[in-house]
Amino acid sequence: MNILVVEDERNLADAIAHIVSEASYAAEAVYDGNAGLRAALSGRYDAIVLDVMLPGMDGREVVHELRRQGVATPVLMLTARTSLSDKVEGLDAGADDYMTKPFEADELLARLRALTRRRGDVMLDEVTFADVTLDLATHDLSCADKTVHLSGKEFEVMRILMSSSSRVVSKQDLLARVWGGSEASENSVEAYVSFLRKKLAHIGSTVQITTLRMLGYRLEVFGA
Ligand code: CA
Repeated sequence: MNILVVEDERNLADAIAHIVSEASYAAEAVYDGNAGLRAALSGRYDAIVLDVMLPGMDGREVVHELRRQGVATPVLMLTARTSLSDKVEGLDAGADDYMTKPFEADELLARLRALTRRRGDVMLDEVTFADVTLDLATHDLSCADKTVHLSGKEFEVMRILMSSSSRVVSKQDLLARVWGGSEASENSVEAYVSFLRKKLAHIGSTVQITTLRMLGYRLEVFGA
């Protein structure tokens, strides 16, 4: 499991990362809301520990923006305050759970376990759509007995499309989640979609990435 920690009190951020890594999870810490949002949009994390009071974007704004952009990673919010309104606002913004500082290591780990379990498939090591399977560890895309390896960005684009099932994913959404607001343009998205189309054809899949003008992409299955 890969946990993102967003907390501006560096001692606390590093302590949380330490607790999480002692429990054999991978942890990355960032120290402000904007960096937190950029990291979280990558979709690489199984859960996010997010402080409410942060410089730049605060925790509620970060989780609100994540949800707006379709990132469903479970979020555990931290606050120094105990008021009910804080809790309600955090949950309204899209957080999954709430914890008041200070807290015990065991409580943090128990809540992270509960959050990732709630997601249903923490131990998920592959995603499937129709006749294709994407291995989340090796980045291999396969159909029947044919396999092709995906590069980092191809993998991330394909994972988002597959986990969206047949829903439309916009170019902007892919840009934000895969490129994280860097210099990339929509041309990059188009290029990677074109690589993926070739790879899907190469492994003989019936799955195709359909372009919906002005809307984005979605996976469709064409007659076997
Ligand atoms: Ca703080």
